[in-house]
Amino acid sequence: MSHHPQVDAVAALADSQRAETLDLLCSYLRIPAISCLEAHRPDVERLAVKVRDEIADMGFDNARLLELPGAHPCVAAEWLHAGSDKPTVLIYGHLDLQPVEPENWRTDPHTPTVVGDRLYARGAADDMGGWVSHIGALRAWFALAGGPPCNLKLIIEGEEEIGSPNLERFMDAHPSAFASDVMVLTDCENPSTEIPGLTVSLRGLLEVKLTCSALSADVHSGLWGGMVPDVSMALTQLITRLSDADGRMAVGRVEVDEARKAAGQNIVFADAVIREGAHLIDGVDPLPVRDRSAAEWMWWQPSVTVVATTLPTLERKKNALRREASAILSVRLAPEQTADEMLAALREVLLVQPPAGVDVALAADGWSGEGWLYTPKGPAFEAADRAYEKAWGRPLVQVGVGGSIPFVALFGRRFGDLPLILNGVMDPVTTAHGPNESLHLGIFRKAIAANVYLLDELAALGSTLISG
Ligand SMILES: [Zn+2]
Repeated sequence: MSHHPQVDAVAALADSQRAETLDLLCSYLRIPAISCLEAHRPDVERLAVKVRDEIADMGFDNARLLELPGAHPCVAAEWLHAGSDKPTVLIYGHLDLQPVEPENWRTDPHTPTVVGDRLYARGAADDMGGWVSHIGALRAWFALAGGPPCNLKLIIEGEEEIGSPNLERFMDAHPSAFASDVMVLTDCENPSTEIPGLTVSLRGLLEVKLTCSALSADVHSGLWGGMVPDVSMALTQLITRLSDADGRMAVGRVEVDEARKAAGQNIVFADAVIREGAHLIDGVDPLPVRDRSAAEWMWWQPSVTVVATTLPTLERKKNALRREASAILSVRLAPEQTADEMLAALREVLLVQPPAGVDVALAADGWSGEGWLYTPKGPAFEAADRAYEKAWGRPLVQVGVGGSIPFVALFGRRFGDLPLILNGVMDPVTTAHGPNESLHLGIFRKAIAANVYLLDELAALGSTLISG
């Protein structure tokens, strides 16, 4: 195993250039590349073109936009001059953004602003800061060593925030843009600003529609109240059946093995971090963990959220018993749980003894996504730990994600036999997808250094990483 003779110098250069790397990040963050809004389609395109041109200038070969009808473009590039005895590392990130809710932002979401040790902007950490931390490392590799120590492919997607609807088509249409020996998928979170995270599980997602019907028309509540069912009441009674006394999903819980349970106990989520990250108001506490851990509750057990209802609203008050009431329940699945298993568990609880005798219907409706449970093993992960030791002073800690990330499930399904290193620059107070999203500048600095060392460590493994 031989390391690149200049790796420390490259790390030093990347560190000394971090102000320029931050400027580059800010220049990207000023473009509101919100993929879910048609009005911003030109911004996604404009940003993709800018990134393509700038990585071409940096030294990448074949910087290009992958395009498909109706899809936002995906930026691709490569550099394959490290030699056939060196592995090819694919780096994935995404340049598109979640929408913003201007009323809740303290600063303009598209004007990156440093306050204290954080950079505030939509996309600062999810995910622009993630892949730009690779760019910061690669710029230094190109400048000092003529290129990275391993072969490299770059994929920067333009529609992750709308669920990567075309990513598999891109994989099918451009297999060589993805073919690699190791994948570094950078769009995940660290447990804290001091502890780097390696994501190894995701929860799945199942949306169901629950409907209570009792009447063929709305009727006067003064005339009929007390003699016929109120579907709104029945619907809420049914929904509360899903919850335990602590207010947590009680249906479909899974057995988590002892090793994962123990790992979960070792990951400390301070109440203060939960309070800040989840925006808890004074006087309201996180749910009690009981005999499990916060990690288990957030990553490995199912949860449920009411995300939409047809219940009467404050604006549409009327003195009537309504004919029908529905709710969309968003159910997060345990990583290894299937949608069918959860649906069966829900049916057992919701379709028996209907409250007030109403008619109850339950069906999958809306979004769904697979969970993912991965066992990292092999030299690539030991290499990653060594890189993180150098940059963060500690190895990666295995973490889960409570959400569903379609691109991860897709990479897992298509490339699950490769080492998949899921890292990122988010931390528990980043507020990805919410107001005042921010990137911790200390994490950004360590991420750049970790990326410099990661490429060297993977390169040093040489042909042992090269598959087939
Ligand atoms: Zn993301």
